[in-house]
Amino acid sequence: MNTLPTFVLASGNAHKLRELRCMLEIDEKQLKSAKDFPEIPEPIEDADSFIGNALIKARAYAKATGLWAIADDSGLEVDALNGEPGIYSARYAGEQKDDEANNDKLLSKLVNGLPRTAHFTSAIALVAPDGREFTCIGICPGQIIYERRGNNGFGYDPLFLPDGYTQTFAELSGEEKNKFSHRSRSVAKLKEMMMELFPEYKNKILSK
Ligand code: IMP
Repeated sequence: MNTLPTFVLASGNAHKLRELRCMLEIDEKQLKSAKDFPEIPEPIEDADSFIGNALIKARAYAKATGLWAIADDSGLEVDALNGEPGIYSARYAGEQKDDEANNDKLLSKLVNGLPRTAHFTSAIALVAPDGREFTCIGICPGQIIYERRGNNGFGYDPLFLPDGYTQTFAELSGEEKNKFSHRSRSVAKLKEMMMELFPEYKNKILSK
């Protein structure tokens, strides 16, 4: 019988963990947190792409735990700024990782007249204990508006107007954002990959 293995998320972020468990429909015994392995040092994310950084994290946790490891990396890419802030999204305005300062920097760089098209990307890597690697990406396209709108969410949410919507990510509820966000799209692909890899998981999901 092909039993479902135990997974570890290469992140200690409780919100991400809860969201992922909910979307993958697996419990805490099946998906562990990086916090369950405090002895593992955080790997240095020095790749030049979202996928590269997700792979660095997942490889490190798969190797150190002997479990299947899942890692994600995400950010905003603005077309007129050649993809900035990109992999530097969290620390665009400095190592203090300040959302307000990042949004101010983005607005100041995106001077009037420049096209304001942008997209969020969420990359996910799944690495097996035997070294096999699987990756997927979810994208959410939109526009950068001129002034912040809304109080929900985090990061660049107040400046991001997703295509087809009149509300920014920060004006939408978390539940509405989750229906079509870059992250929900990448996790949906991860779920498909896991259903292909683990027939028992597929049966469990399809029988619900
Ligand atoms: P992480 O890879 O999830 O840690 O995200 C890196 C950075 O990208 C965050 O600190 C935010 O600045 C930005 N980011 C990623 N996803 C979102 C989102 O859904 N809304 C707003 N900002 C985001």
